[in-house]
Order: sequence, then C-alpha cells, then structure tokens
Amino acid sequence: MNLRKLIFTNNACYKAGRKITPKGIMVHSTGANNPNLRRYVGPDDGLLGVNQYNNHWNQDRPDGRQVCTHAFIGKLKDGSIATYQTLPWNHRGWHAGGSANDTHIGFEIVRPDRAMSTAV
Ligand SMILES: [Zn+2]
Repeated sequence: MNLRKLIFTNNACYKAGRKITPKGIMVHSTGANNPNLRRYVGPDDGLLGVNQYNNHWNQDRPDGRQVCTHAFIGKLKDGSIATYQTLPWNHRGWHAGGSANDTHIGFEIVRPDRAMSTAV
C-alpha cells in the first residue's frame, strides 16, 4: 500500500486541536464523479498533481464548510492508488456529524461512481 502523509494544517479542524481516543473507523465514499486525490488533498506534492481550482481541503473552510477527515484513498496523477493521511489519527475530525467525531477515525474513498455515496 502506498501510504503517505499530508496533514491539513491549514484546515480550521486541525487548528481546533481537539484530541480523541479512537474507538472505530468510519468509511465514506465522496460520491462525486472524480477519482483524483488532488480534488481533496493538496497542495501538489509532485505525485498528486495540481488542483486547478485550488479547492482541496487543506484550507480553513473547504468549499465554505467545516469539514476534515483523517485520510483519503484515491488516485494519484499517474493513475495509481494511494492513501493519504490528512489528520493525526488521534485528532478529532469534522466528518461524521454529531458525536461520532468524538470516537471515530474517518476515511474517505475518492471514487468515480455514486453507488456508495454518502454526504462527506
Ligand atoms: Zn465522509
């Protein structure tokens, strides 16, 4: 597995700095028609590719929302699959909505179809 780390230090969730004791993992699909990690993970580290809209989640409020998850699984610019850790595992994410953020690590699968879609 290609496991990399690009912590979202610019995201307001990271800056909030709350810690959790993880009790489980929550896996979501982005449900958007875009398999590329660079949609969410940035800036470009040479492997991700450039997000031309600069709307990745390593910024204060991505798309104007309070969202942040611990990891993304998706495609690099060369088409291979990688996993990027984007928050420390014991950091409280803004992912699940409600109290699950207090106990769960969130993974987001960046996939091109909507078959498993949920809200991010
Ligand atoms: Zn999600």
